[in-house]
Amino acid sequence: MNFGEEAILNLFRKPFTDKYPFGKKKVLDRFRGWIVYHPKKCIGCKLCEKNCPIGAVKFHKKGKIDFDMGLCMLCGQCGDVCPTQAITYSTEFENAKPKKKFTAKTG
Ligand code: SF4
Ligand code: SF4
Repeated sequence: MNFGEEAILNLFRKPFTDKYPFGKKKVLDRFRGWIVYHPKKCIGCKLCEKNCPIGAVKFHKKGKIDFDMGLCMLCGQCGDVCPTQAITYSTEFENAKPKKKFTAKTG
């Protein structure tokens, strides 16, 4: 197909880009957004704290863990090592907030 044909065809195709932020952004199934911590599932093994590469997880006691979402790079390590799926990831990614310190959501 030559350039002219391609240009004419594109007049009738839908755009490949999303309208975000004017429209809702669709995310893929395995997208990792803001962390969700499920305290009732937590057994207090501390694996999440030990395996976070940047120290964004602060374990206090079983069912009470702080995730510093200002530091978190959403690598997925804490969720991968958690034996009880007490850490999951939401599809939320619009996390800009005026506060300096962010914490995970509680599920
Ligand atoms: S997703 Fe990665 S960086 Fe964020 S808290 Fe978990 S292990 Fe740490
Ligand atoms: S790895 Fe999972 S079960 Fe273990 S302390 Fe962290 S959240 Fe709780």
